[in-house]
Amino acid sequence: MGSEAKCSKPECDKFVAVNELAKRRGFFWSSFEIYGGSGGFVTYGPLGTRLKQNIENKLRELFVKKIGIYEMESSVIAPGKVFEASGHVDHFKEPMVECQNCKGRFRADHLLEEKGISSAEAEKMTLAEIKEELERHGIVCPDCGGPFGEPQRFLTMFETTIGPYSGAVGYGRPEAAQNIFVEFDRLYTAARERLPFGVIQIGHALRNEISPRQGLIRLREFTIADLEFFFDPEEPCCRFLGEVENEVLPILLCDTRLKECEDTTDVTVREALDRKIIQNEWQAFFMAQAKRLLVELGVPAEKQRFIEKLTWEKAHYSTQSFDQEVLVDRWGWVEVSGHAYRTDFDLASHMKASGADMTVYKEYPNPVEKEELVVKPIMAKLGPIYKGEAAKVAALLAKVPAQEVTDAMEKQGSIMVENYQVFSEQVDISRQKTTVRGTRFIPHVVEPSFGCDRLFYVALEYAYGIKEDRVVMGFPRSIAPVQVGVYPLMGKDGLDTKACQIQNMLANEGFMAEFDETGSIGRRYARADEAGVQLGITVDYDTLKEDTVTIRDRDSWQQVRTAIKDLPALLHDYFYGKKAFKELGVLIKSQ
Ligand code: AMP
Repeated sequence: MGSEAKCSKPECDKFVAVNELAKRRGFFWSSFEIYGGSGGFVTYGPLGTRLKQNIENKLRELFVKKIGIYEMESSVIAPGKVFEASGHVDHFKEPMVECQNCKGRFRADHLLEEKGISSAEAEKMTLAEIKEELERHGIVCPDCGGPFGEPQRFLTMFETTIGPYSGAVGYGRPEAAQNIFVEFDRLYTAARERLPFGVIQIGHALRNEISPRQGLIRLREFTIADLEFFFDPEEPCCRFLGEVENEVLPILLCDTRLKECEDTTDVTVREALDRKIIQNEWQAFFMAQAKRLLVELGVPAEKQRFIEKLTWEKAHYSTQSFDQEVLVDRWGWVEVSGHAYRTDFDLASHMKASGADMTVYKEYPNPVEKEELVVKPIMAKLGPIYKGEAAKVAALLAKVPAQEVTDAMEKQGSIMVENYQVFSEQVDISRQKTTVRGTRFIPHVVEPSFGCDRLFYVALEYAYGIKEDRVVMGFPRSIAPVQVGVYPLMGKDGLDTKACQIQNMLANEGFMAEFDETGSIGRRYARADEAGVQLGITVDYDTLKEDTVTIRDRDSWQQVRTAIKDLPALLHDYFYGKKAFKELGVLIKSQ
């Protein structure tokens, strides 16, 4: 969370306003309320579920449809071995302190942040240093004022057992990426054994956060969209770069951060690569796409930035990382997506731990002639010395690189393999010419990782507006949870039947259209504005005579009159962004 100044007046705290509206209109609320609630869990209601699906579908549109990324779905629980190999069991921990009085537990780094110690500084502190800083700032329990005990590192993965066996430890996945790495071989086959290729998984992630108090920003169960893009490190070029190379990325660089300055460096994607600010073309491409995605969700470019992670802030698997941040009213700069260059760390770790081959084969454009050192044991000489163990000695020797054997023989005249000494006269070392047609290697990975609930929250906060004392949720057209509301002016005289027919026709055309006949037309418009319904179609007495309707725009409150038969084509154009509202009919009035 960033350090931007917060608005202190309750009436201008959008976090409160947005959360109240969300509860009232059924976007989302805290789960398990009837049992007193449980921090860090939310329930999305009818409007929220649709909005969230629309946001997730934007990711699919951007990556799956447009650039051919594959999608997969796997399990939330995984055997312990997966997260031991990935490094999470050792590293996925947060510093925690417990109040000795009320036993409340808190993220130590968040308590320090409130005293102006940046998360970057806190992240590199040892537990002893954290303790010292807490004491130096006189930090006590925010709930009861009690003193804190010794800081400790808390593993934030949910641990369970798989089946009724206490030894079969499993973990709830804290990210969706590991499923992709573990299934790499089958995914690579599905991708017709060609690099580069990418796989996205959009699904629930579990993190046993220590004290989540920031609504959708910090949940214990949330939706993550992890995209793992596999490529040959010797061929790192991104074929889509031309589409984004002039996109400007505002980046808060490590050097600037170390000077405790918050000024961003605005560079185009091309400049960022030329100046080696971003190491990898694909990573730069995904960062540009992430910026565009947020713009499409309603967050203006100037309310976004990328922050380069310092060495000690980076996840254990990453060589270069950036967080995409969005400025929000209550919390300042909030991370919405992470962009990491994971190299071959994950595949190599799973290869080592499981023994499965995670390499891919690459054929050279032209076969290469190579001279190889070959070490052959002379069994006629080993046999009489090692007798029954001679074959074992030969096998052990075969595991030692030929160059190592040769060096040892030249220097010492012998080599030790386990407890056996093999002398130079017992081996035959020669050079042989071979034709090498290709090589095997572990692909490298860049990863954009989006938190869908945070995307949802920022979309909601940026949509939130007040017009003439009424809330209007001005979502961008492409994510409005309801595209069209259909309203009969009166629930009688056949107007309701006609409105139902129109709603039905629009639903059959693929629009998210809702019928609403409750309350006065003014109340229905107000309700629709709060729900972010993009357009309202009103069926009145003229409709019955002329087969025309009025269409009302949520944002301008303007109305146009249009023939019913033209609605499908016009609305398709409108929602594809090909037509402006005023082009949908004859302007009749502003509300
Ligand atoms: P990370 O793997 O920590 O970089 O997380 C990836 C993305 O998930 C972040 O950019 C956030 O948008 C989101 N995220 C991380 N932790 C949480 C959480 N506790 N609740 C909601 N979203 C989260």
